[in-house]
Amino acid sequence: MPCEVAARFLILYGSQRGQAQSIAEEICEQAAEYGLTADISCLSKQDKYNVDSEIRPVVFVVSTTGDGDPPDTALKFVRKIKNKSLPHDHLSHLRYALLALGDTNYANFCNGGKTIDSLLQRLGAKHFYATGHADDGTGLEVVVDPWIEGLWDALKKTFSGMSASNQTDAARSDCTQDNNLKNASGQEKTKSDLEVDLHLLKLSEVHSQNEKTVPSDSSDAETHSTTLVASLKQSVPPLSESVLKVPALPPSYLEVVLEQASTEGETVPSGKDGYHEVSISKAVQLTQDDAVKSSILLELDISEQDVAYQPGDSFDILCPNRASEVEELLLRLDLQMQRNCAVQVSLLKNSSKKAAKVPLHIPQNSSLQFILTWGLEIRSIPKKAFVRALADFTRSSSEKRRLLELCSKEGSADYNSFIRDSNVCVLDLLQAFPSCLPPLSLLFEHLPKLQPRAYSAASSSLQHPEKVHFVFNVVEFPACPEHPARTGLCTGWLVDHISSILQPLGTVPASECLGTSALPKVHVRPRPNSTFHLPSDPSVPVVMVGPGTGVAPFIGFLQQREKEHEMNQEATFGETWLFFGCRHKDKDFLFREELERFVHNGTLSHLIACFSRDEPDAAGTVNRPTYVQHNLLLHAKNVASILLKDKGCLYVCGDAKNMAKDVNDTLLEIIGNELQLDKLDAMKIVAGLREEKRYLQDIWS
Ligand code: FAD
Repeated sequence: MPCEVAARFLILYGSQRGQAQSIAEEICEQAAEYGLTADISCLSKQDKYNVDSEIRPVVFVVSTTGDGDPPDTALKFVRKIKNKSLPHDHLSHLRYALLALGDTNYANFCNGGKTIDSLLQRLGAKHFYATGHADDGTGLEVVVDPWIEGLWDALKKTFSGMSASNQTDAARSDCTQDNNLKNASGQEKTKSDLEVDLHLLKLSEVHSQNEKTVPSDSSDAETHSTTLVASLKQSVPPLSESVLKVPALPPSYLEVVLEQASTEGETVPSGKDGYHEVSISKAVQLTQDDAVKSSILLELDISEQDVAYQPGDSFDILCPNRASEVEELLLRLDLQMQRNCAVQVSLLKNSSKKAAKVPLHIPQNSSLQFILTWGLEIRSIPKKAFVRALADFTRSSSEKRRLLELCSKEGSADYNSFIRDSNVCVLDLLQAFPSCLPPLSLLFEHLPKLQPRAYSAASSSLQHPEKVHFVFNVVEFPACPEHPARTGLCTGWLVDHISSILQPLGTVPASECLGTSALPKVHVRPRPNSTFHLPSDPSVPVVMVGPGTGVAPFIGFLQQREKEHEMNQEATFGETWLFFGCRHKDKDFLFREELERFVHNGTLSHLIACFSRDEPDAAGTVNRPTYVQHNLLLHAKNVASILLKDKGCLYVCGDAKNMAKDVNDTLLEIIGNELQLDKLDAMKIVAGLREEKRYLQDIWS
């Protein structure tokens, strides 16, 4: 009997924070609309799939974490395909497509996906569709949406290739799995080394049944008014007059029951997932009141916990959503009276959602208020699928039309400008569209897990036994037409939380010995860093670049070095350079006194600081350095010599968006000039430094 090649494919995802998983699920859901059947599995579930004998096309969706690493859930799989003893044609039967997720604000863009891609290639697997590299820095959907759109055509071609191959071969052989493997590998013409710029991707010409068209709402008087200014609530022509292609309605899959049993008293998460409840023993304002940004140092008392850390590690802090926003949400959903009800979540019977699961971050039997406070990131930016689903719970036809516009292909620019770039959250949408009243289950289906925030340790336990220090900037978002003024979720909460113990800059604490019970508490979990540490050999010279709060880990490094110096006077210590920057010398020079002490006692060989907003001094230095990279350039000879001759290390910490990129460019310039190399060759040297773990970054945005 000839073989029938079922139009069935496999989706494997490696997700760190759930984005790759939700994209994989979206692909899985769309498949049926194209007459295809998809199976889906997390890469960590190795008992659920086997690429060694996989004859179906496989679609990988892989995110990137840390310093360009594959997500934790993909590590076992990576180890497996990295095995050097595997023959070069081990996966020659495998046809696959790969969507890599990353963020160009960080080094090693999309490296998690790229690693898996190159390992698969090395083992002979072939692309049936070009790899996509999606950038969270500019919006994943810019690449993800067209990539998925083109995937269906590529899959169909792959299936027809496999089917033709099977029919030819069926005349010659029985249908065995081995034959199928051979046939599949023999047929498909792929460009294995292809990396197509997705902007140039020729999109599928097959008309997508997945997209429903929505006629323009010509009855909407608002769109024809004389004020032709687009906003979150209102569109202007041509969008307001366009026929829309909107994404398919995501199938609902959760059933939420609110039970009257009272769950009062549940105020903070339990000590699960390795979190420790610790006291904040000190909080000190590090900046003047008139500084542009306010920076605060926290000291946590970890004496009663089994918590160890090294300078260079970070800690995750759990923070709740703002009580006022939870309140507004309850009010808006008409659920204030049910706030203390116990929530039961189960899977909806007959849901068409593939691999549906009750989200683990929604604990059973917790109160509604607790879940909205500690479980869900209610500030997250609603994805287009969420906006699409909200439209179906909107009574007013003009509001519904606007929501459909915002999630449509034609309304992409409006989505980017009024939702994504304006950091709009579900509450902002509910305020802007008053006739939208979604059920609670919809929020549970679409809101992601409330993530902890990470803070770098700014201390060494040699110098501060049983304590750990952090320093953070209070993040502020000014009011805009889409939402009121806000502070960052965690940093805004921390400021309120520590207000009773906050010491203004330069003051002596009123009471050093507040009873522990009176101190504010916080839940923390160590987040070890495998590479961002001082070299084990203290004679290795180090260059540290840490403007603003980026100086945090270097305070830890220097405290550690200071103590090591004291404990071992005979040892040889390499040179230490710190490039620091802030706005004003007298307003936000963090840790100034401590840094000057390090210089004074020889722990820090060179403190090179710059102040971007200070007026030039009386001497009126022309071209004075404004940012850390300018100072690096001024000291190019020393930096190059430390890195290229003395085998030293360069550490960069802080802002990922601008600073880390500027420093990287400057490093290329320094190395290019020093070694008389063009940019490409300088890049190779810098890549080598990264490889040798002598150029290390701990950056965030
Ligand atoms: P959030 O509410 O999460 O907002 C943060 C970002 O979201 C903003 O930068 C912005 O891009 C966006 N955003 C949200 N709402 C809006 C809006 N309405 N308008 C515009 N933009 C908006 N930070 C430190 O200060 N010190 C440290 O030592 C430190 N160490 C870190 C170490 C690591 C390993 C990592 C990953 C991060 C570190 N961070 C550090 C960053 C820190 O984890 C938080 O991201 C930061 O404090 C902001 O948190 P938040 O909850 O206050 O802000």
